[in-house]
Amino acid sequence: MLNPDDISRRLETILPTVEKPGRYTGGELNQVVKNWEAIQTHVALVFPDIYDLGMSNLGLAILYDLINGRADALAERFFSPWVDMEAALRQAGLPLYSLESKHALADFDIIGFSLPYETLYTNTLNILDMGGVPLFSAERHEQHPLVIAGGHAAYNPEPMHAFIDAFVIGEGEEVIHEIIAAHQAWESSGKLRSELLRSLAKIWGVYVPSLYTAHYEEGGVFESMEKLDPEAPLPVVKRIVPKLLPPTTNFIVPYIDTVHNRVPIEIMRGCTRGCRFCHAGMITRPVRERSVEEVVNAIETALSKTGFEEVGLLSLSSSDYTHILELVTAVGEGFTGRHLSISLPSLRIETFSVELMDALKDARRGGFTLAPEAATERMREIINKPVSTQQLLETARAIYSRGYTTIKLYFMIGHPSETIEDVQAIADLCKAVLAEGRKVIGKRAQVNAGVSTFVPKPHTPFQWTPCDTIEQIRDKQELLKHAVRGPGLKLSWNQPEDTLLEAWLSRGDRRLAEVIYQAWRHGARFDAWHELFRYDVWMDAFARIGLDPAFYTHRERPIDETFPWEHISTTVRKKFLMEDYLWSQRGKTRVDCRQRCFACGILPTFADLRRMNPGEVWQCPEVKNKRIPVEEIFALEHVRELG
Ligand code: SF4
Repeated sequence: MLNPDDISRRLETILPTVEKPGRYTGGELNQVVKNWEAIQTHVALVFPDIYDLGMSNLGLAILYDLINGRADALAERFFSPWVDMEAALRQAGLPLYSLESKHALADFDIIGFSLPYETLYTNTLNILDMGGVPLFSAERHEQHPLVIAGGHAAYNPEPMHAFIDAFVIGEGEEVIHEIIAAHQAWESSGKLRSELLRSLAKIWGVYVPSLYTAHYEEGGVFESMEKLDPEAPLPVVKRIVPKLLPPTTNFIVPYIDTVHNRVPIEIMRGCTRGCRFCHAGMITRPVRERSVEEVVNAIETALSKTGFEEVGLLSLSSSDYTHILELVTAVGEGFTGRHLSISLPSLRIETFSVELMDALKDARRGGFTLAPEAATERMREIINKPVSTQQLLETARAIYSRGYTTIKLYFMIGHPSETIEDVQAIADLCKAVLAEGRKVIGKRAQVNAGVSTFVPKPHTPFQWTPCDTIEQIRDKQELLKHAVRGPGLKLSWNQPEDTLLEAWLSRGDRRLAEVIYQAWRHGARFDAWHELFRYDVWMDAFARIGLDPAFYTHRERPIDETFPWEHISTTVRKKFLMEDYLWSQRGKTRVDCRQRCFACGILPTFADLRRMNPGEVWQCPEVKNKRIPVEEIFALEHVRELG
C-alpha cells in the first residue's frame, strides 16, 4: 500500500499533465489537516462528482466542520477525478487519495458518500474501485472501511443496497456523531463486522440493507421487505434535527472557480407548499427556521473567515420564511457598500418577491428567476402550484420595471395528464411575459425559458404516475423549439435519455443494483454529464440482467401497489400521498399547510420533538395529543380504502 509521501511525490509528475490541477491539490484556506496518527476515527467525505461541483455542496461543508470539531475524529475530502485524472491515476497505479493528507481511500475508517441525486451512482462505484475498496458490501471484512451514504437519493436506497453498508435516511448533523461512536465501540470490542452493522441499525435514521431481504410477485412487482434480524427496525424512520444547529461558517475557499463561489447560509429547512412533483418538499418536512439574528451573525462571521463576495440565503421557498422582510432588510442594510452579491433563490411568483430583492439593495439587476413549472392554470392546479396567469404577468411587469432585463422561467414538461395544448401554452406564456417586458423596457427585455422533464419521485403524490417516453418527450421538445424562438427568447432543455436514467433509478428496486454494476463495468461514468452519459451502455446492462427499463418508468402503478421504498418512512403517510394523488386528478389543490394542517403524518411521529421546541422554530401547529408509535402509523399505510 502506498503511503501519503509516495502519493504526493508521484502526483508531482501527474498534476502538470491534467486539466485544472487545482481540483486535486488541497491546501486551500480553511482546510483542516490533523495529525493522522493521533486521531482515532478517520472519515472520508465523498462527493461523487468533480471538485468544482462538490465544493459547493452545503451538506458536505456541514459534516466536515462537525467531524473536524471533534478531538477524536478527522474528516478529509474526496471528489470524482475528471476522466483525464482518472486515467493518469490508474496508469500510475495510484489510488484515489484525500485532498488533505493524501491518504488512500482504503486507509479511512468510515467512507461517507453524499448522494443528492441518482446519476451519481456509477461514480460512487468508480470511487470505491479507485480507492481500493471492494465494491460490494458483502465482500468487505473487518479491515475494510465502513461505507455509508446519505442525501436525498438515499430515500430510495434500494438500487444501491448492494454497495453501501449503511444509509443515513434524513439529516446528518446529529447521527454522524452516533455512527462514529458506534464505530469506535465496535473497534475496541474486536467483534465481527456484522456486529458493527447490527449496532448501526439501532440508531434512529440508519438503514442497513443487508439486514433485510426483498420479495417480488411473479410479474416482477415488488411485494414486501422482510427483516432478517429481529432487532432491525421496520420501517426505518428518517432522522431530523429538532432544532437547526447554528449555521456552519467555516467554509473552505477553493483556488479554482467552482459552481458557487459563495457563503451558503440555510435560512429554513422544509417546505409547506405541497407541490406534488417536489421530492425535497415532501421529504424535508417539517419546516424549521433559523432566527434573523442567527443568519445575520453567520454571514458576518463566514465573510470574515473566507473573504467571499457572494452570499446565498438558501431554502426551498425563501418567500415563506416567516421573517423574510426583516431578514432581507437587515441583510440589505447591514452589508450595503461591502460589494456583496446576495442571492435569494426560490421566490414565489408575486410582486412581493420583487420588493424583497429590492430590499437587498446590492442585488444584481441582470436576471430574475420565476418557476411556474407549468403554463396553464389547469396544469398548475394538478401539480398544486396554483398561481394565476394574471398574477404571473403582473409579477413580470414589476420585475422589468425595477430594472431587470431578463426573466428566467422554469417549466417542466411531462406532468401527469399533460396535453399538447399545455405544452404549446409554455411558448405562449413566454411570449406574453416578453410582451410585458417590451412594454416596460422595449427591446432590451429578454425571456430565457428552461424546460426540464418531470421525473416521478418516490415518497411524493406522483409516485404512482408514468414518466413520458423518449418519443413523447422529443415531440414536446420539438414543438417548443419551433415555438419559443425569435428576438428576446431563449430556450434550453434536457436530453430525453438523461431524464430516463434518473427515472429508472428514482423508483427502482434492489434488482437495479446489478444493472448499475454492469453499466459501471462497461464504462458508465459521470452519468449526470450529457457529454459522457452512455445510454447504450445502460440499455445493454438492462438487457444483460434481463430487466425491462420501461417497467420502472412507463407503467401507471396501481393505487394499491406496494413500493420498494416503503420500508423507509419519511413520516409523511402513504395515505396522505395517495389522497393527494387522487385530488390532483380532480384538479383539487391544497393550501399552504401553515394555513391549515392536513395531518400529513409528521406531527404524530414527532409530537415529542415538537413539544420540546415550542413556538415559531417549527411551522407545524403545536401538539397536545400523545405520540403515536411509528409502527402503528406505518400499519395505517396499508389501509387501502382510498383505492
Ligand atoms: S404536520 Fe401539518 S403543518 Fe406539519 S408538515 Fe404536515 S401537513 Fe404541514
